[in-house]
Amino acid sequence: MQILDGKETSKTIRQELAEAVQERKEKGQKTPHLAAVLVGNDGGSLTYVGAKVKACKEIGFESTLIHLEDTITEEELLAKVNELNNDKEIDGFIVQLPLPKHIDEKKITLAIDPKKDVDGFHPTNLGNMVLNLPGFLPATPAGMLELFKRYEIETSGKHCVVIGRSHIVGSPMSILMGRSAYPGNSTVTLTHSRTKNLKELTLQADIIITAIGKPNFLTADMVKNGVVVMDVGITRVEDTTKKKGYKITGDVDFESVAEKASFITPVPGGVGPMTIVSLMMNTLKAMEINQR
Ligand code: NAP
Repeated sequence: MQILDGKETSKTIRQELAEAVQERKEKGQKTPHLAAVLVGNDGGSLTYVGAKVKACKEIGFESTLIHLEDTITEEELLAKVNELNNDKEIDGFIVQLPLPKHIDEKKITLAIDPKKDVDGFHPTNLGNMVLNLPGFLPATPAGMLELFKRYEIETSGKHCVVIGRSHIVGSPMSILMGRSAYPGNSTVTLTHSRTKNLKELTLQADIIITAIGKPNFLTADMVKNGVVVMDVGITRVEDTTKKKGYKITGDVDFESVAEKASFITPVPGGVGPMTIVSLMMNTLKAMEINQR
């Protein structure tokens, strides 16, 4: 069994990105610039956005955090999005979700210029993904594709079972794994809470991707020997032995499943760290697409 070490892989990619930025600087070319819009003071969102901005700075990108009051109106936020769309200094930007209830997330997502949509949530980018055309892939699925590549895992002709069908992880991952590409060319089964015979399906799977947010859901009796497992789940589970009083747990019962798996991501340290570097890779790409 081999651990798919997202922490180490993301470090390597950060180093590569830092070198690419340094090279650009030496040639007098523009430095990639990511802006992150945060509305309100939700603790989780503050942490995520803070980590994204910090990671950008560490590798030499420019990054700007735009922190807005949760009393901002939808019109005002749309105006901010429009301003960023037209700001030549900004290569890509994200609007951290969820937004306060009085703001329509769909409207905001649609207002972002697809060429600057480094989260890959705009329908144009989702359409490009389906058609296998260039565009921005959502960060978490893109991070998993990168892990398949870096560990040279064969995906062609494999049966891939995806558990969870969210718009940001499960659904795009099912499309990507079925595309005529590498990684891809798998036979994909997309499952969700209404799936009746989940264990029957997972027992046939060569690759399992879990994105449901249910700690230790996938157990050893549900998988066959040699399976490749990617665990997206992140759930806080009470743990009095930890200073914080909790630990981060994935959807996979790691100890038991690891004994049967050929490759497996740990939680934390697997898919999570790859998500942020994907965003940075998208930002570099945005700058190249916008030819700056
Ligand atoms: P989500 O919006 O929370 O939706 C959960 C999905 O799981 C739904 O499609 C749901 O089915 C399905 N589901 C729930 N119970 C199930 C069951 N018993 N059997 C099969 N399917 C079941 O999904 P998400 O936003 O992708 O988040 C999933 C997890 O990934 C969360 O723990 C989240 O924190 C984590 N996450 C991690 C990263 C990262 O960077 N590592 C990024 C994003 C999310 P229905 O559609 O039928 O309701």
